[in-house]
Amino acid sequence: MQIIDRNNFLVAKKCIDALFKYLGYKNEIIEFLSRKIEYANNLNGDNWNLNLDLNGRFLRFNLGQVYCIQITSLECLILCMRDSLPLELSKSGDIEFRGYNKKLIVQSSDISSVPDCLVKVPNSIGCVIKKRFDELLPALEKSNMQFIEYAIRNTNILPQMKCTHSVGAIDFISVFLERDLPNPNFVFSAQKNENIVLRNLKKISESELKELALSKTDLPCKGHTKITMFIRSSYVVELSKRLANGICQDCGQFAPFVSKITNEPYLEIHHICPLSEGGKDTIENVVALCPNCHRKRHYG
Ligand SMILES: [Zn+2]
Ligand SMILES: [Zn+2]
Repeated sequence: MQIIDRNNFLVAKKCIDALFKYLGYKNEIIEFLSRKIEYANNLNGDNWNLNLDLNGRFLRFNLGQVYCIQITSLECLILCMRDSLPLELSKSGDIEFRGYNKKLIVQSSDISSVPDCLVKVPNSIGCVIKKRFDELLPALEKSNMQFIEYAIRNTNILPQMKCTHSVGAIDFISVFLERDLPNPNFVFSAQKNENIVLRNLKKISESELKELALSKTDLPCKGHTKITMFIRSSYVVELSKRLANGICQDCGQFAPFVSKITNEPYLEIHHICPLSEGGKDTIENVVALCPNCHRKRHYG
């Protein structure tokens, strides 16, 4: 299994599509998840993340130090507060409940025989819907939101969790739902900045842009939060796009579509030697590619 780049849209799309290929209910689950992300972000934009596993095995929405929704190719596990679950679900057999007795997993469709799922959240119970998925998912909504409220107020995200957030997954869900989903505050700043900077850069001349692209130190800045995240030079990105003039530099074809955000031909800027491997953030080390060729560069 290969290690993936969590911040890349295409990589995230590939992983998430693969998870849902077996699991199903893609629309329902992504809608459910996105509402919870928006809810958590409104409560506290610094205390959640969306973690896409480095091997693409799961997508996990975390609040503070605990998980809340975990999607694998086999199941969608939703954490709820047992007191606020609709009573008729507690023995119906349609939901499998999950808890832990010390480290031992306990699963049953009878909620009364299942202990709490998380020590840090009293009353918490894991729920996996087994039957009538589209009917029962909305029934978990309220109880899952109460879990979110408790977890986000009573536990705190760890620094090492911050760097497992997947901007690529957020981008993917935003495109999938055609609405902008937030990233946690700690992620950026910088990502948001890049979009603002890029918008402003449209106005400056090519010679000015070349000067700026050269003037920047050729080593990428590291973000100033505790997490290591490489901030690409917006000058290099913009210059590379301008020089490509809408043409993919691998296949020579015109970009396949126009970006809804920028209204320009959609090309992606690829670092030939990745920043994470010490590659320089210079115009010589980037190419502007169509999404297909970009995927080929990464996966052959
Ligand atoms: Zn191409
Ligand atoms: Zn790339």
